[in-house]
Parts: sequence; C-alpha cells; structure tokens
Amino acid sequence: MNTPPLIWTNVLLFAITFLGAAIFVPWYGILQGYGLIEWLAFIGFAFASGLSITAGYHRLWSHKTYKASSSVRFIFALGGALALQNSALHWSSDHRVHHKHVDNNDKDPYSAKMGFWYSHIGWMLREYQAQRYHDYKNVRDLQNDKIVMWQHKYYLALVLLMNIALPAFLGWLNGDILGMLLMAGLLRLVVVHHCTFFINSLAHVWGSQPYTDKNTARDNGIIALLTYGEGYHNFHHIFENDYRNGIKWWQYDPTKWLINLLNWLGLAKDLRVTPQERVESAMLQMQLKRTQRRVANLTNCDEALEKLQAEYELLKSHLADYYKAKKELLEAKRKQLASKQLMLQVEEMKQRFLAQQKNWQMLTSTYAQPIK
Ligand SMILES: [Zn+2]
Ligand SMILES: [Zn+2]
Repeated sequence: MNTPPLIWTNVLLFAITFLGAAIFVPWYGILQGYGLIEWLAFIGFAFASGLSITAGYHRLWSHKTYKASSSVRFIFALGGALALQNSALHWSSDHRVHHKHVDNNDKDPYSAKMGFWYSHIGWMLREYQAQRYHDYKNVRDLQNDKIVMWQHKYYLALVLLMNIALPAFLGWLNGDILGMLLMAGLLRLVVVHHCTFFINSLAHVWGSQPYTDKNTARDNGIIALLTYGEGYHNFHHIFENDYRNGIKWWQYDPTKWLINLLNWLGLAKDLRVTPQERVESAMLQMQLKRTQRRVANLTNCDEALEKLQAEYELLKSHLADYYKAKKELLEAKRKQLASKQLMLQVEEMKQRFLAQQKNWQMLTSTYAQPIK
C-alpha cells in the first residue's frame, strides 16, 4: 500500500503545539513563574474544553443520548472550538463511523488494530480516508441543528477567538498576557488533546472487557480519570445510546454528573439509560464465555461445561423473572394498584435470583483458580 500524503496543517499544528508546551511553558515558568490564577485558568479551561467534547460532541451530538437546550449546545460549540478537535459535525461523523465499523482497518477512521500511534494521532496526520472527508451523510440529523452548522461554518474564527483572544483577554485582566496564553492556551490545549486521544488509543488496549469481547474497547478506571469519565469504553461500545459510561456510583464519570446536573437545572432532558437487565445479561454472558474457555483446558471438560451451561441457564431465567416481576410492580404502582402480595412476589424473585447468582459466582471462581 502506498503511504498517503501528509496533512501538513495537522502535522505542523500537533508538532508546534507539543514542542511549544514542552519547551516554552517550563521556560517561561522558570523565568517569570505562574500565579494561582493561571493554574486555575489551566484547570478551568481543561474541564471546559474536555467536557464540551465528552458531554457535547460525544454523548450529545454523536450518540444523541440526551437532549440539551440551545444555551447548553451553544456553550458546547464554543468549548468544542476551544478543544481544537475539528467541528462537532465532522467529529460526530468520524465517531459514528468508528462505532459502526469498530476495529475494521479499512473503515474505522481510528482503528485500534492499526496500532497505538495510528489510533492515537497517526490517523490525523495523513490522508488515510480522504474520500470520506466531506461526506456528512451519516450526520444528516445534526445538519438540522443550527448551532452545529453555525459552529461548522465559523469554526476557524471560533478556534482563534477561544484559544487566543479569550486567554489573551484574561491575561490582560490579570496583568500577564503571555503567562495566560501559555497556561490556559497552549499547555491546556496539548494536555486535553492527548487525554482525549487516549480514548481512541489506550481505551482500546488497556483494561478489562466485562460486557463484550466483540471489539477492542476496554473499561479502565485510570483512563477515566484522564478522559472525564470516558475510560469505561467497553460499556460504551456495547451500550452507545446510554448517557452514562461509568454506571456504578463509585466510577469516575464527571461527564455523566454534568449531564445529571443539567437535567436537574432543566437544561437537559430525555436521558437514555440501558435497562439494567440487559447490562446484567451482557456481563453474565462474558463470565460464561471466559469460564468456558478455562474449562475447555481441563482433560475431562464435558461434564464441567454441561454443569456450567445449566447453572447459567438457571441464572438467566431467574434474572428474567425478577426483572419481569419488577416491571409489573412498577406498572401497578403507576396505576396505584400495587398490592402487598405483588411486592412480596418481587422480593421472592429477587432472593431467588441473588441466591443463584451466589451459586454462579462460586462455580465460576472455582474454575478461575489455576488448575493443578
Ligand atoms: Zn462513542
Ligand atoms: Zn472507541
């Protein structure tokens, strides 16, 4: 395969900003020093631009996991320009292709199977998919969003306004224009760039696969810390319409918290959530698969496989019964028809499910031990 030509604008942009952040930022720090205001601006700008990508470009526009008011969309459009990751229209188009053809080296724009460098930044440095560059057929819905189209049209002007004019203005107010440009502008830009790029590179190679192994996406709490909660990428790739990535309360997902806050303020609505039963089924299926693989190494595995399958089927049916009963109870409650008997029934189903879940965990953990 011939190597496609370089995209010089991108090569220079990434090289100059990276070298600038690595050389000029510390140089100015030693020479002049940075104050608290500049550090706070660095953090504030990092969250504003990073969350505009994750809550705006990603979960709102690419996946439509919730609806947001025009004021929120306007702020995300500005924050997206601050992040300098192309327009929301273009980003979402690429991202929808990524989900549709994940890991397909010919189609996925940042396929992880092409290697770490390629999925991290390499894909933007050469004209790998030039034929698709202006094809916005998969984002027709977004073309009806006036804010998306406004941002797309004035993208370059907004980038300059947000990345240069705004930090320069704040620096002027604070009495050090260059210091603010280096911290809230340059250093922040490079850090947020690479943190977001980690979602395409690191989050497809490092971590666990609790929900699916049909693609390379991984769940990783450390990556979540760097990516505003997007490190739960294994969950995201199987349930892409869910507004959450970290579904457990202790998982770090500030993007989800922001969407919840917007919802509470009346600025976001129709938050989409995957039914818990589907999430649990996916996890069970993965546990079954993994254990089957381990058991297959045993000399006399047929009996063990049979037992495993039987316990799995039983757990699946208890799971289905419990969630069905729970749904019926909710429905009855809505119609104010919930009886004590129905509540007891749900409780019974729940206990039956939990007991079988315990059996299942014991069985799978037996096979998780190294075979002697
Ligand atoms: Zn996505
Ligand atoms: Zn991905």
